[in-house]
Amino acid sequence: MNSTNDYDVLICGAGVGGLALAVALGQQGRRVLVIDKRSKETLVHRGEFLQPRTLGILQNWGVLSTLRTRGALNIRAMQASSANGAFMGQLNYELLPGSFNYGMVHYYHETKSALYKEANSLVEIRDNTQCVDLRFNSYGEVIGARLLAGQKEYEVSARLTVAADGRTSQLRRWMGISASMYEYPHQLLGLDLEHVSHLEPVMNAFLSSKGVRVLYPMPGQRARLYVQVERGELAKIKQQGMASWREQLLRDTPALQVIAEQIPDDFAGAQLQGAWNFCSPIWTRPGFALIGDAAHYVHPAAGQVMNAAIIDAWTLASELQAAATGEHLNEREVAQALTAYGGKRPTEFAYIARLCHRMSLCCATTSPALRAFLQWCMWLNRGNKRLQYVVTYNMSGLGVRRFTRRERLYQYGLLPDPNAAVIDF
Ligand SMILES: Cc1cc2nc3c(=O)[nH]c(=O)nc-3n(C[C@H](O)[C@H](O)[C@H](O)COP(=O)(O)OP(=O)(O)OC[C@H]3O[C@@H](n4cnc5c(N)ncnc54)[C@H](O)[C@@H]3O)c2cc1C
Repeated sequence: MNSTNDYDVLICGAGVGGLALAVALGQQGRRVLVIDKRSKETLVHRGEFLQPRTLGILQNWGVLSTLRTRGALNIRAMQASSANGAFMGQLNYELLPGSFNYGMVHYYHETKSALYKEANSLVEIRDNTQCVDLRFNSYGEVIGARLLAGQKEYEVSARLTVAADGRTSQLRRWMGISASMYEYPHQLLGLDLEHVSHLEPVMNAFLSSKGVRVLYPMPGQRARLYVQVERGELAKIKQQGMASWREQLLRDTPALQVIAEQIPDDFAGAQLQGAWNFCSPIWTRPGFALIGDAAHYVHPAAGQVMNAAIIDAWTLASELQAAATGEHLNEREVAQALTAYGGKRPTEFAYIARLCHRMSLCCATTSPALRAFLQWCMWLNRGNKRLQYVVTYNMSGLGVRRFTRRERLYQYGLLPDPNAAVIDF
């Protein structure tokens, strides 16, 4: 424990984003303190899909092997199908260059605990410790925070304070950064299925008239099923009872017959999750940075949010490394790194967020006319490897490759694509 409570970086929040940053900075040899107001992990269905770029980062940190040892599964594609299971389109990871041409699934608590294990060997982590206020110097720059552990309140100094405190970030609000959040009109009901050994290594989105149903295999012969429900609908569903709801679900989405017997008999293990889209207009202030859900969020069915948190951590740590001249960071180096991080990462993320928003609307819409149009576009492009590659590349986290105007015309079927079979690496 650092007796002076003086650090290079203070990370508020030990979710996946905060722990990822702790690993990256710990491996650079920085003095880092991570705090979290929670003391123990609750088991939640979230952040289970790791995109190819994230796998490369986790490999670099030496964390990927832990996940593999703990049974993580490779996923070769994210696929959209009709309610009957007819193929409509896919993000085909096998098209990607490099060795990470696949995604991976594991339980959120496993990814978090693999990061925690590595971070804990490198930096100081204090659980049960809440950030209750930020500290500023006379120029308005952040110089640390006030922390509360039990009854004891104390001050910590840091060249950089990072808000990794989740979607409803208090630190973001204390900095006066307001982020307007779009809440989707639906929610996702997550079910844990047991004894499922027959699913392909694919994340499948079935587009039904009642919205999207996402199904994918999980380690330990299990599977995850997310069912789109209207906000407030769960109470009615519970009243209706599982047997009758399951019957209706299989009628709406006959493709789910493959797991009909594995759908649980009650809602005991079911979890309801909301869906939002937002991107903070400002990610940095002097001595302060936002990462992860505190900075942004997209629809969880896009399988992006946790990955974006890890890429934020990687980018910020890389900029700090590039600016550093010695073992410890000074204010000038932090300012230089924040300019680079705040200039690059939000623009990159905003493009991916727009893409995710469009894809989510496309998959989740229950409007018959819109469904027919969007699904026609997907059907039209189902064999277009070039467009498939561009979308897969963007969604895999490898970078941003914007669609040209001409490609948009191909997408909407307004022009035939003469190079549909040619992948432009
Ligand atoms: C239904 C659902 C499905 C999802 N599926 C996916 C998916 O497939 N793929 C994907 O990439 N992502 C997914 N996500 C998102 C993913 O879970 C998050 O993006 C990821 O956990 C990263 O979050 P974070 O570390 O930024 O914040 P969080 O995980 O929210 O962590 C914030 C931490 O900060 C702590 N904290 C808060 N306030 C304070 C304070 N004042 N002082 C100290 N500590 C504080 C909290 O206790 C918490 O531990 C999903 C989310 C949902 C809801």
